[in-house]
Order: sequence, then structure tokens, then C-alpha cells
Amino acid sequence: MTTPMLKQYQGIKAKAPEAILFYRLGDFYEMFGEDAELAAPILQIALTARDAGEGKRIPMCGVPYHALDSYLSKLVNAGHKVAICEQVEDPKNAKGIVNRDIIRVVSPGTLTELVSERANRYLASVYFAQHWGLAFLDLSTGEFTIFQTPELDSLLAELSRINPAELILPPDLSKKPKLWMGYYCTVREQKTFCGQDLKNRFSEQLALFTEFPVATQAATALWSYVLETIPGLDPTHIISIKTYRSEQWMFLDQWTRRNLELTESLRDQGKKGTLLSVLDVTQTALGGRLLKHWIDKPLLVRDVIERRLNSVEELTTDSFLRNDLYKLLSQVYDLERLMGKVSYGTANAKDLLSLAQTLALLPELCKLLNSSSAETLKSNAPQLEVEGLGSFVTTLNDALNPTPSLSPRDGNIIKTGYSIEVDELRSISTGGKEWVARLENAERERTGIRSLKIGYNKVFGYYIEITHTNAHLIPTNYQRKQTLSNAERFITPELKEYEQKIIGAEEKLKELEYELFIALRETVRTYTKPILQVAHVLAELDVFVSLAEVAVRHHYVRPQIKDDGQILITEGRHPVVEEMLEPGVFVPNDTHLTKSHHLALITGPNMAGKSTYMRQVALIVLMAHIGSFVPAKKACITQVDRIFTRVGASDDLAAGQSTFMVEMKEVAHILNYATEKSLIILDEIGRGTATFDGLSIAWAVTEHLVQNPAFNPKTLFATHYHELTHLQDDFPGLFNLHVGVKERGEDIIFLHKILSGKADRSYGIQVARLAGLPQGLLQRAKTLLLELESTEPTHAISDSPNVVTQFSLFDVPQTHPLLQEINQLPLDDMTARQALQYLFDLRERI
Ligand code: ADP
Repeated sequence: MTTPMLKQYQGIKAKAPEAILFYRLGDFYEMFGEDAELAAPILQIALTARDAGEGKRIPMCGVPYHALDSYLSKLVNAGHKVAICEQVEDPKNAKGIVNRDIIRVVSPGTLTELVSERANRYLASVYFAQHWGLAFLDLSTGEFTIFQTPELDSLLAELSRINPAELILPPDLSKKPKLWMGYYCTVREQKTFCGQDLKNRFSEQLALFTEFPVATQAATALWSYVLETIPGLDPTHIISIKTYRSEQWMFLDQWTRRNLELTESLRDQGKKGTLLSVLDVTQTALGGRLLKHWIDKPLLVRDVIERRLNSVEELTTDSFLRNDLYKLLSQVYDLERLMGKVSYGTANAKDLLSLAQTLALLPELCKLLNSSSAETLKSNAPQLEVEGLGSFVTTLNDALNPTPSLSPRDGNIIKTGYSIEVDELRSISTGGKEWVARLENAERERTGIRSLKIGYNKVFGYYIEITHTNAHLIPTNYQRKQTLSNAERFITPELKEYEQKIIGAEEKLKELEYELFIALRETVRTYTKPILQVAHVLAELDVFVSLAEVAVRHHYVRPQIKDDGQILITEGRHPVVEEMLEPGVFVPNDTHLTKSHHLALITGPNMAGKSTYMRQVALIVLMAHIGSFVPAKKACITQVDRIFTRVGASDDLAAGQSTFMVEMKEVAHILNYATEKSLIILDEIGRGTATFDGLSIAWAVTEHLVQNPAFNPKTLFATHYHELTHLQDDFPGLFNLHVGVKERGEDIIFLHKILSGKADRSYGIQVARLAGLPQGLLQRAKTLLLELESTEPTHAISDSPNVVTQFSLFDVPQTHPLLQEINQLPLDDMTARQALQYLFDLRERI
């Protein structure tokens, strides 16, 4: 490549070889060579070629600068990095080709354009040195958090919760790709985990985090990456780093989070059918994100839970306050993301107006809170009163045109009356246009050419246009400039003189409006901290109003939070399933788990409602811990440190694991980590292997969970292994429940009622009939069942008190000739050798 432009291009491209370079040329971002070939099909734009000198051509494609956001997000979401290269000097001052440089590198974790409003987009970093350190940052909102843990499992659970768009790793960890499967990873050199930039910027805070050195190292690499991707810009909206300790939050592993469908559905990972979808009637993106956060991280700190519950209760009882807040919040814009844009220098006049509109609501909000009797909510009011903000909001409203141009450089930004200079320039430029109109009229009269018109273009400026048919009427002072097919264009000295004045004024006006706008934006920046604080209070208020609104609409009650080891729920309902059914159709059920009665074994046919019931208990417990009211008539919930679930077959085939392997891993995880304060939901275990293996495992797991009085996690276990129901006789902690069904002829009716005691039958064939299996096939299944039932000796269980001998499926029929023979053996008269010989003979005969 030889042209000067392409030479410059190559030099810049070498600085970011791993990224697609968007090279700004006029109104376009151009891509060349391999970049162009890679990007064109993704962006669905035409691939052309450009002269590269010496007769060579180079592939090229381009996108218009004003549509940057959407093209950028398309490439980044397809897993590419994009380096944005702009002119970095005023073309007027340039000697030769205008200087250009990369102003930003955008990767999945640093994209702030067109990202989902109601979810965070995190850039994360992991480091390991005896402990695991995690740091994550949402560049659009400024939320920056670190976390440290000795357990890999809890690191992975946190990662799956925040689901980072990009994960920064040191070289050694990047060699364990299985751990980070599914994440977009960026490897950074070891030394970036030990740099100084983070310490310089957040020194005060880091001084408080001395006990999290590994997490701080993760944050160090993350921060250096951020600074590198936005060179020369300090993201001022990132004001602090937060941390949290695992003891403050209920631990939810990735399986549980998924199985309970808290914020993503199992089917399509959408929001529909999730707990979030039921609880979220928030009015703002701020509230939407916070609610998701709360659901993902239930609390263990009782005081904080109670405070949240108080706030929700105050709003359920005061419907006027709730409605007024609801209305006010509907006018609130996304302050966090707006402050992000201010910090990056991308906020336009409309963004500042949105900020002003939101901040102007604060006095009314405060008044509303202060005049209510909602004591807990009221305590938020002082944080909404920021000194000086009110008058600054007035300034913004006085300064900014209510319908400004999109780009701050395009003029039409500043209101008339705000600046004398702006007003003067504006009157010259608009006055100039009037002058042109007057001149046009005057010239028409003077020349007698009625079609004479004055026009403007970038090349010639103002001109007078006359059609050829009127050529004979052209006055002598007109100077010919251009000939078109049907007209001629002229200028006059008078026109040119005035043109200079108008254009000069217009340019100056735009320049001045831009300067004034930037000054306003910089002033907004100085309010970053208080505005972000206001944003947080508004988000909380929004979530409280949402929780209260849902509680009232769906008749939820305030749970009593206790620490007595009991989960007592009267007429509990499943918040999501109940929503999907007609009103009043959902059958409520009670739950009674105590320290001495802590494992409920639930039997009953498929489709009876076992899973729904167990999930309902888990969700009610979880909702109580986030500070929400719960779908029940009454609920006393003990504090639960972890909820575990083992539900259905969640194949992880992508990771090369069979259903059974996954299931066993989940069970192992539960048994390793559950404490007596945990809640465990087991929906069938041992199904992925041969019946006896499966039953044995299910049996042993159940025993493990009930035989140690010091370890009594509250457990709901649904199973089809009816043999297990007999364990009730041996372990007082275990009790049987079943789901009621009614038989009508060949059919069954599901009552969805949880009753005490075990189910007497499985009703598999009846359920298959409901599912629509052919009649002939059902008949055959029935015959087979009768045959199997008459030969299968499963009856020993209830007869024998001993658990080991109860294991009926391993028994052989009492009537078997071998058994009779063994029964009659004269054991007392046999020598050891004879007995052994008999055993050998026996083996031969089997
Ligand atoms: P199981 O786990 O016993 O196979 P599920 O819990 O999946 O059964 O329930 C099957 C269906 O029954 C659910 O999708 C729901 O529509 C309905 N159902 C479950 N529980 C109830 C209930 N308490 N009230 C009304 N319908 C219910």
C-alpha cells in the first residue's frame, strides 16, 4: 500500500491488530483488507475495493458515522473487538493528511451502546493466589464490585450470576478453558494484575480492602484494561468499589438459580415465566436492574430484610402514596446510564434534558415522602435533597432548547435568552436568511423574471438561478458561475458580501452553542456522586413500589422472618404457576418443616404437582429473604443460608457430561455444602441409571440426610421409589407426603393437594392415557404391569423393621427352591470347610 492515507491506516492498525479498525473518513467509518472481508457479511453491507496505489486494489467497506452504535454492537455481539479511529486534529491546522488515532477499543465487556436497559453488562476479571479473586464492572452504570472466596464453587456461582460479557484472565488461568466455558475471555499479561492505576484512583477505598488482596489484583487488571480501551478519558461516574462477604447473602449455585427460574426461564432464557417477571412492575430501568439484583442475591442480614419488608408494608397499606410514587417514577430516566454518557462525553442535549427532567421531580418526591406516615421510606428523603442541584436543574432548563439537534455540534442546542452572544449571532444568521428572501423579491421585480430564485450549495455558496428561457433578461452585474441543462447560476458582489456575514455567523453560532453545551455537561459531571446516590434511592423506591403493587394485586402477605429452624407456610402458592392459571384455580398448600420433622418425602403420580409444590416452597423462602411479601395466607420463615435444588434432567452434553453424571455431581455438591440451615429440593434422584442402582443411591442419600441429628437440613424430596416411604418408620426426621388424586373409572383427576402419608400407586398408565398414548398400547402396558406386579416381590419392606433387610428389590422370593434348601441346611453340624464347599457348589448352580 502506498497512498499516504493507507500508510497512516496501516500504522494505526498495527496498534490494535486483534480488533477490527473503524477508520474515520469524512462521514464514514471505513474498514479495509481482512477487516472489511470479516465485517461486511456480519454487518450485511457491500464489500467494495479501493485503489491502493501501484495498480493494486484493497477490499473495503464502510458504515455511516451517525449509525455507529448499531454497527458497533452488531460486531461486538458477534464476538469481535472494534477499534474506533477518529481525526485527532483540526483539519484546518493539518499539514498533509489529518492526524488520526484510536480513541477507543470496544469489546463485549466494554460496549456501552445499545445494551439491554434492564440488565447489567459486566466486564469481569478473575485471579487466583490461594483464594479466588473476582472483580466486575458495568461500564455503563459505573457499578464496580470485588469479591474474594476460598471456594472455586462460589466463584463459579458468582460468575454465573453476573454472567459477564467478557472475562479477563491471567495466562495461567486461561489454560483451564473448561472452567470458563461459555464466557468471552481476554487474556492479559501477569503484570497487569499488579499495576498502580487502580491504587492511584481508588486509594482510600482500597485501604479498606486489605483483606481482599486477590480480588484487588483482579480489579487491578480490569482497571488497566478499561483505561487502555478508552485512552485519555477518566470515567468519572465510576466513583467507588463495593465488596461483599458471602455470609451476607444466601448462596445460590448456578443450578439452583437456573432450576428455580429466578430471572431466566429454563426454556429460552427469556424473562417470561420467571419470578422476576411476576415481581417486576418497576417503572424505571434503574429499578428493573436493582430488582433483578435483589432476586439474584437474597439477603441473610435480618435487619436489612426487615427494613425492606417495612418499606413494602408501608406502601401496601398507603395506596395513595403508592400510586403517587408510581406516577412520579414513570417519569424517571435512567440516571446511571445518563451519568455514564456524561462521563464518556457522549451525552447529548437530549440526555441532559432527560437528566434535568428527572432531577426536577425530586422536590415533589421529597414532599410526598415527608408528608406520609411511612417512617422507613421517609428516611430516604434527605438523600434526595442535594444542595445546589435544584438551581442547576433550572439553569439546564433555561439553557437547553427543548427539541435540540441530536449532535451537539449541529447547532440548535441553546435556547434564545440564555446567552447574549448566542442571541446576536442567531439574529444575524436568521436575519441574513430574511435578507436573502428580500433580495430575491427585489431582483425578481428588477429583472421581471418571476421564476428567479436564490439558492445555496456547499460549493458556490449563495447563487441566483435563472432559466435559459429568461436568458435575455439577465442584468449586466450578474457574474456567471455555472450552467445547468435548463438554467444558469450567477453571483453578485453584494450577494457574496452578505454571504460571508451569514455563514460566518452561523459557524460562530454553532461553535459557541457547542462550547456552552460542553460547559453545562462538565458542570453535570461535578454532580456525579450525588446524582448517583439519588439514582440508587430512586431505584430502591421503584423496587419497593413494585413489590408492594404485586403484593396487593396478588394477595401476598408479609412473612415473619425467624431463626427458629422452622418453615411454616399456610396456604402457600407458586407465584409464577398461579399467574399462568385462571384466577382461583391454583390449589394452595401448607408446608410444615421443623428441626425434628425436616425431610418430607413426596410421592404421587407425574403431573400431580410435586415439582410445583417444592419450587413454591423454595420461592417463598427466597422471596422472604429478598424482602418481598409472599404468596401465602401466613408464612413464618427461618433464615436459610443456602437453597439447593436437584431438579429434572439438565444435561450438560456440551461439556461432555451425561445426564446421570450431572445429576450425581449436583447431589455430591449438595451433600458437600449443605448445612443444617439449608433448604434442599430434590426432584427425583437416581433415574439416569439402572433401577436398582438408582434406588440404592436415592435410599442412601435419604438416609444421609436424616440419620444425623446435628445435620438436619430442611429437605423436600419427590420420588417414584415408593420403597423409600418406609424409611419413615426408622427415622423420625422423615415424614411422608403425597399428592391427592381421584380415580374416576379408568381416568384420574389431579387434586394438586398435598396430603400427609404416602401415595399408594403411581398411576403411570393413567397419566400416559392423559398424554394421548394409543389405546392398544395402553392395554398392553396394563397387561404387562399386572404380570410384573404379580412376580415382583416388593412386599418385604413393610414387614421388616430392619433397613438393610428391607431392601426388597434385592430379595429373592421366599418360595424359591434355593431358599428352601438353604433354610434346611444343617449349619450347626457342618464344618467350615463343608460350608465353604457348599457355597462353591451353590455358585456353580446359579
Ligand atoms: P409433577 O412434578 O408431580 O410431575 P408438576 O408440579 O410439574 O407435577 O405439575 C404439573 C402441572 O400441574 C403444572 O404445570 C400445573 O399446571 C399443575 N399444578 C401443579 N400444582 C398445582 C396446584 N397446586 N394448583 C393447580 N395446578 C397445579
